[in-house]
Amino acid sequence: MSRKVSLIRGDGIGPEIVDATVSVIEALGVDLEWEEVRAGSGCFKDLGTPLPEETLLSIARNQCVLKGPLETPIGTGFRSINVAIRKHFDMYANVRPARLSPALTTRFSDTKVDIVVVRENTEGAYCGIEHVIPPNRSAAESIILVTRWACERIVRYAFDFARREGRSKVTLVHKANILKETNGLLLEVGQSIAREYDDIQFEDMIVDNACMQLVMRPENFDVIVTENLFGDILSDLTAGLIGGLGLTPGANIGEGASMFEAVHGTAPDIAGKGVANPTALMRAGGMMLGHLGYVDEAQLLEKAITATMANPENRTGDLGGKATTKQYTQALISAI
Ligand code: NAD
Repeated sequence: MSRKVSLIRGDGIGPEIVDATVSVIEALGVDLEWEEVRAGSGCFKDLGTPLPEETLLSIARNQCVLKGPLETPIGTGFRSINVAIRKHFDMYANVRPARLSPALTTRFSDTKVDIVVVRENTEGAYCGIEHVIPPNRSAAESIILVTRWACERIVRYAFDFARREGRSKVTLVHKANILKETNGLLLEVGQSIAREYDDIQFEDMIVDNACMQLVMRPENFDVIVTENLFGDILSDLTAGLIGGLGLTPGANIGEGASMFEAVHGTAPDIAGKGVANPTALMRAGGMMLGHLGYVDEAQLLEKAITATMANPENRTGDLGGKATTKQYTQALISAI
């Protein structure tokens, strides 16, 4: 019997890159049954809600969802549906790998970039406790909420991940010099748990220094573990090191359900033009295949991506090429 997976096509470039990813996974011969459900801004316009109950029920049933990006109104309107899904299913570990492909030349090609950001995905500044003081938003407050429990499980996840993946170092990124309580707690927990993993090197780094070090010496980083907001930002930085947002996937791992998506958003500037790079979502699909036990197929997919991107004629606009999403996808399917 085929494995069911919930599928959210999403907003902006979402439908284009989701269709491309589904066709590639089908070309790999993996027996998945897609259960399509809705969420996001388009869903809000059509159904009056950005996150229907049916979508949550589908994810709860299937425990696995492949998701295109979802638009979040900026400053006003409904809260992020991405955050809502992650929190609803307690998908606490957001894993965002950025590895430089041998198929591409970037500003960093003469160094080694193979970094995985492990971001705490449920707390911190994204906990959603915010309010304004009237009139006219004369003041506003957003709470950063952190629990010892969540710090422990994300740091442990990062160390276990490092062990499992044969990696040698975990860098905990924080701002504990200023945010002494919230980030101080994460740092204290990190230092304590690190003692249990004497086979993995541990260091901590203040986030501003980490930004500079990531650009100057990316080869010094391996696994980064950090809180929610810094992880969101740093993973765009690491995406930039390897060629951009079109290439970097993300997994949101929970004890029950897990969600696989690109790091990037809906790319409204290129939506509907058929030119988006679907690689980030395809790689998220690869992470999903690995998670579901299709390890060989996941490796095959990454090999096909490398082989396809190696030919400049197959590259999409973000990588300096002229290929459309469909042309790239067709070339990739031929390489499988
Ligand atoms: P974005 O990631 O959508 O786009 C940033 C830049 O990267 C744009 O120039 C875009 O064209 C380019 N880009 C992104 N993905 C690309 C791809 N696959 N191929 C080629 N170019 C690509 O960021 P934004 O413009 O700040 O956000 C737009 C919307 O997306 C917002 O509503 C935001 O809330 C949402 N968003 C959603 C998610 C998610 O669903 N997980 C993540 C980030 C942002």
